[in-house]
Amino acid sequence: MEAPSGQSLGRLEFALLSVSDLSLPSSAAPADGTAVAASAAVVARFADGDSGAAELRFYRDNGADDVVGVELANAQIFKLGPIQSICMSEGSETDKEKSYSKGFNIHFKTEEESEAFHCTFEQLKKEGSIKGTQLPNGVLSTSKSKFDEKIEASSAKMYFHYYGQLLHQQNMLQDYVRTGTYYAAVIENRADFTGRVVVDVGAGSGILSLFAAQAGAKHVYAVEASEMAEYARKLIAGNPSLSQRITVIKGKVEEVELPEKADILISEPMGTLLVNERMLESYVIARDRFLAPDGKMFPTVGRIHMAPFSDEYLFVEIANKALFWQQQSYYDVNLTPLYGTAFQGYFSQPVVDAFDPRLLVAPPIFHVIDFTKVKEEDLYEIDVPLRFTAAVGTRVHGLACWFDVLFDGSTVPRWLTTAPGSPTTHWYQLRCVLSQPLYVMAGQEITGRLHLVAHKSQSYTIYLTLQTKMWGPGAEQGGILQTSSGKLDLKEPYYRMSQPQSYTVAQDQQPHQLLQSQELNVQTQDIEEADLLEQPAQNSGAHFG
Ligand code: SAH
Repeated sequence: MEAPSGQSLGRLEFALLSVSDLSLPSSAAPADGTAVAASAAVVARFADGDSGAAELRFYRDNGADDVVGVELANAQIFKLGPIQSICMSEGSETDKEKSYSKGFNIHFKTEEESEAFHCTFEQLKKEGSIKGTQLPNGVLSTSKSKFDEKIEASSAKMYFHYYGQLLHQQNMLQDYVRTGTYYAAVIENRADFTGRVVVDVGAGSGILSLFAAQAGAKHVYAVEASEMAEYARKLIAGNPSLSQRITVIKGKVEEVELPEKADILISEPMGTLLVNERMLESYVIARDRFLAPDGKMFPTVGRIHMAPFSDEYLFVEIANKALFWQQQSYYDVNLTPLYGTAFQGYFSQPVVDAFDPRLLVAPPIFHVIDFTKVKEEDLYEIDVPLRFTAAVGTRVHGLACWFDVLFDGSTVPRWLTTAPGSPTTHWYQLRCVLSQPLYVMAGQEITGRLHLVAHKSQSYTIYLTLQTKMWGPGAEQGGILQTSSGKLDLKEPYYRMSQPQSYTVAQDQQPHQLLQSQELNVQTQDIEEADLLEQPAQNSGAHFG
């Protein structure tokens, strides 16, 4: 729901003083029959239900999971006083005997809130659904949000279904390198949070909002699009010393409205190869929509690191997967017509696993993405020129990639790294394997291009080319000796972790500590960033808490 410029969106959410269900036995309510849970925050929210018709739902943040609501088409609202109303809804018309009417006694915080709520109620009841409705306090545009324009609905549905499940949030929480580094970055940089307004972009379980509140945030808006928002409410409500300062808002950061600007954004938008899931774009949109000028972003910058690698075992493993299709008599059927397709298919899967950094053939280079400056559109296509100098003579099987992000706190800048050789994270590392290996000599230059093109399924197509230049006597004539290219889909990785491998160094290769010489290779770095980009000093300090 993108607001046309100059107009504000209508509000769909109202914080209430209390709400009580009239159908509950009176013993469940206080003697005066008014509030159910005056101490717990109660939220009334208008939303389109599964049938597409507008509904009014009440959420009680007292730890109970009792979301109740009514369809506006069957509901009426009556004012009992300046800040008190009754909402009644009829049971379904088709099945009168079996369904009963519902009634709610609503207490607003102010007369203005009551007014705004009533206007919205009547308007939505008239319109039938929220999409495209003109609200009295703003406009809800029919135009698709930036998210919906870019992303296929089926992809988004699966994506938010995934994050709506607690087990996947737990998986991230149990990555202690990840969560511990976030905790350290926030707590060590209290000064950036104390008394500040924070937006948690893609809050998930709400963990980063809770960290920000622990660090003294004045208020945290936890924006989460998936069903996890309800669990986040529950988790936050169960931490009462912090919950007063956190508001969970269910919706996409591209679509929700916040009542005030943020001093700092916190988020964990990184996917495999940093950019997978295309959530960095949402992070940047959140920056443009919610962050005050000169506001901070945690994380602040990200870097994609790349180096050629040699891994005979991995190469053979992938090439062999397609061998099945070389059978000429599989139950008397010739499978070979599909061999080429199968072979290409296996090499189009980037490999996700943790590898030994000694497999790297040259010191890595990196590409910087400054979250505070990058334009959202700049993330649609990422083009990285590659230039390496081989440290050993070997066969190069492809390009190894990983990333790190910087929390540029005003007290302690801190890096979260996913580098090979550093404590392993749930991101592991990523390797693009080429079907045609390259031969290099020590000292020989390897050039090429890594070209990432975003697609509508919240991921990227990877175009990789590696080349070796003429080397030794006759090199003056220049020229490319060998070229190898591949097209891979970042959305379809091969998770190799389930089949642990021993990290044997290629026979003809001496171990090299290439990672340590990384600062010598800054070809792709943006000079402006130089001050931010010293090698992470605290990589191994990621185990915090
Ligand atoms: N901040 C949590 C969760 C990180 S996972 C943590 O650090 O543990 C990223 C979360 O962002 C997911 O829960 C996902 O549903 C949410 N998300 C992704 N894109 C979003 C968007 N455009 N708007 C709102 N939430 C989004």
